[in-house]
Amino acid sequence: MLTPTRRDFLGLSLAALASLSGFARAAPARLRAGTYFPWSTLADNVWVTVSPTQGGNVIVAKARDGCLVIDSKFAGMGPTLRREAADLAGPVRALLNTHHHGDHTGGNVAFADPNIDTLAHPKARARIREAHQQYLAQLRGAMRQLGPDLDPAVQAELDALLLREDRLTPQDWTPRKDAPLPDSGRGETDDLELLPGLNIRLGHYGPGHTDNDMTVWLCEADIVHTGDLCFHNLHPFFDASAGVTARGWITSLKAVLQRCTRDTKVVPGHGPVGDRAIIEKQIAYLEALIEAVAKEIRSGKTKEDISAMSWPFMEGLGFEQVRSRAINAVYDELAGSP
Ligand SMILES: [Zn+2]
Repeated sequence: MLTPTRRDFLGLSLAALASLSGFARAAPARLRAGTYFPWSTLADNVWVTVSPTQGGNVIVAKARDGCLVIDSKFAGMGPTLRREAADLAGPVRALLNTHHHGDHTGGNVAFADPNIDTLAHPKARARIREAHQQYLAQLRGAMRQLGPDLDPAVQAELDALLLREDRLTPQDWTPRKDAPLPDSGRGETDDLELLPGLNIRLGHYGPGHTDNDMTVWLCEADIVHTGDLCFHNLHPFFDASAGVTARGWITSLKAVLQRCTRDTKVVPGHGPVGDRAIIEKQIAYLEALIEAVAKEIRSGKTKEDISAMSWPFMEGLGFEQVRSRAINAVYDELAGSP
């Protein structure tokens, strides 16, 4: 049985899963030729890269003098991500992580620089600090992960990072500061001028996809990066070791939805950019999953029976390999507190 473990996930599995998933065709048009990541323009001064084999979706937002990067993909991709972000929007001044998972934080290693403010939820920082071996494993697997026929510039950046491997420490990945959150620990901040000319708002609504999810709003552009609270056209990834809760996940998404206008652009953790409808779809999936599993529990089926089932709301989605994992996690959640 292929059961992804947390270790796999922090390492390489998502890219492997993605390459097998159904949605790999919908890559956006490249902004310019010759970039490693397929960048597309989301608004004035805001770019996104969405690619099923390159980890979580990343936003670059230009401020008056330099830019913010949201999430950092896998370790071996970090240096190239930093260079391409700077080419788009000037020197990187700040990096935010939406949560600790390795396909959103591996590239942090390339942003460990006193000139860059690095921030995440306090619980994300703690988990990132503990994941050093997983990040090193990502680095060692990077050649395979970055794909064949690598551009010489990308290869050189990876080689330079690999030369430093023995000297890298957990600090090289761990964001230096706690992201500002509301006093209660849940909800949203006021608008904050993170960089001159760039206002953001941060949200955390309790445990959902993980215990450290953070949504990042770009106020001027009316864009939200949901992190992995939203998977678009994909089965959502459930990580029992990170405090996942389907009910909390729904609560979080409903809070995000409340803040979305008709025009808000929604950047999910994985899958194509959309609008508030992709959040509604994610809520509907999670609600349907809870209802379906609860019904089967009531009918007396075992966990093993239920985990092999499927229902119409699950059809046609990518990341098929994590489908039964979602069912099992919801089973455990319901069995633990009916
Ligand atoms: Zn995640």
